[in-house]
Amino acid sequence: MTGTDCLFCKIVAGDIATDIVYESDTAIAFRDINPQAPTHVLIVPRQHIATINDIDDEHQALVGSLFAAAKSIAATEGLSDDGYRVVMNCNEAAGQTVFHIHLHLLGGRTLTWPPG
Ligand code: 5GP
Ligand code: ZN
Repeated sequence: MTGTDCLFCKIVAGDIATDIVYESDTAIAFRDINPQAPTHVLIVPRQHIATINDIDDEHQALVGSLFAAAKSIAATEGLSDDGYRVVMNCNEAAGQTVFHIHLHLLGGRTLTWPPG
């Protein structure tokens, strides 16, 4: 699934309005429509990659840029010192529902471990 079939490709293309909090050459970030914490931001590469299993050597800088975005957004959201969680789900058993990789940035409350 790529391009017009993919929800996050549509958001990257600007075809679906979202609450964008961060943009770079490689990624965008916007607030999750069903937030699980006071801050719940999705960090999405502009390039369509379906799952972690589809990440290749050529994507290493791109994937690194997602974590750079997480660091920046956490600072903007005031989460850097208290702490926050960054999660990427892979395939159904982990709860992935949108098959275009994305980091979840969660913060603003105490997060338990292990996750459900
Ligand atoms: P996953 O379950 O794949 O790890 O995460 C997908 C996330 O996308 C979910 O947390 C879900 O709430 C969010 N989501 C699904 N559709 C939309 C949408 O149209 N807009 C936004 N902002 N988030 C969405
Ligand atoms: Zn996509």
